[in-house]
Amino acid sequence: MTENLNLFTSTQVVIKEALDKLGYDEGMYDLLKEPMRMTEVRIPIKMDDGKVKVFTGYRGQHNDAVGPTKGGVRFHPDVTLDEVRALSMWMTLKAGIVDLPYGGGKGGIVCDPREMSMDELERLSRGYVRALSQVMGPTKDIPAPDVFTNAQIMAWMMDEYSRIDEFNSPGFITGKPIVLGGSQGRDRATAEGVTIIINEAAKRRGIDMKGARVVIQGFGNAGSFLSKFLYDAGAKVIGISDAYGALHDPDGLDIDYLLDRRDSFGTVTTLFENTLTNEELLELDCDILVPAAIENQITEHNAHNIKANIVVEAANGPTTSEATKILTERGILLVPDVLASAGGVTVSYFEWVQNNMGYYWSEELVRERMTEKMVTAFENVYTQATTRGIDMRLAAYMIGIRKTAEASRFRGWA
Ligand code: GLU
Repeated sequence: MTENLNLFTSTQVVIKEALDKLGYDEGMYDLLKEPMRMTEVRIPIKMDDGKVKVFTGYRGQHNDAVGPTKGGVRFHPDVTLDEVRALSMWMTLKAGIVDLPYGGGKGGIVCDPREMSMDELERLSRGYVRALSQVMGPTKDIPAPDVFTNAQIMAWMMDEYSRIDEFNSPGFITGKPIVLGGSQGRDRATAEGVTIIINEAAKRRGIDMKGARVVIQGFGNAGSFLSKFLYDAGAKVIGISDAYGALHDPDGLDIDYLLDRRDSFGTVTTLFENTLTNEELLELDCDILVPAAIENQITEHNAHNIKANIVVEAANGPTTSEATKILTERGILLVPDVLASAGGVTVSYFEWVQNNMGYYWSEELVRERMTEKMVTAFENVYTQATTRGIDMRLAAYMIGIRKTAEASRFRGWA
């Protein structure tokens, strides 16, 4: 049998398993097995050459029993309906794991921002909001950055919504520039959250982070900030990669130098001659491996060759279900995406709270509150996994889905 690489159907399998273990019936699974609303839009944009191009956009809203749905919007040529469905379900899980008053949402536009001008990107961002303004809003569904979207794009989207709504609506979206109501620390929040989780996992495995050998796949927003935090904390980052190749130095790479040379899409390996492939990078001998790039990177084909003691998923969906089993059986501590990367949405929640209050917090306060949430979340998932003898992914799904299931039951939805 070939391995299931479809994120949506493989997510359904684990949700079913989690609901079964929690004692819910078929009706609850029927409710939660896919988003309650999936919207697909066509967005016509005038390109710089004067011609109109029509882009396809999606927004998936998994379940809003707990509160408004929340999650990023990605701009990527490979975005598909199934991917957005799966990612919206993962946002429900993340919100449940760090205990936020949200359900999950996710959106995407099929496009390649690397080949678009700033003006075209602005028109596309505004077009997406116009097309979806009826189903989104600060108390309905709150977008945020994701793959290849950033604070500037959030600013355009917020401005467009404010025009439609005829109010200044900072709470429409998170990940904004600070001057428009963004939160201190949001840009680095995902990486900071991953760092906290790595520290917790390392403690459980008796690994001292000073001198620990770390490999990071991906040098985008999460991967690059993460490499800097770990490097500054004294870890040896022995491997990093981007979409084009990987760099390896057993004595530790000079991260400051690489960050300096990286372009805005996270490309840096093209500047060097002696590069490895991404596949080789994943199999390097190290203490901690962090896939922070794209999905389906660790599969049944390479899971047996992974040499790390701990694998922390900073990307969404980098390890298949089959590989999760193999790694767990081999005694490798696998920390799942829905836990490891929840720092971003946690600080997004703080941003939204600050927007609603109109009162802004210091960077220290944001960090302190995020740390508290991430450490508690790790502890809960780790305890659930060890006491029940299950893998960390299933444990995280059980904790992540419980609140939405309970809220849905009280509302009479299942
Ligand atoms: N896109 C990020 C994620 O997948 C952040 C979502 C948010 O901040 O709402 O968790």
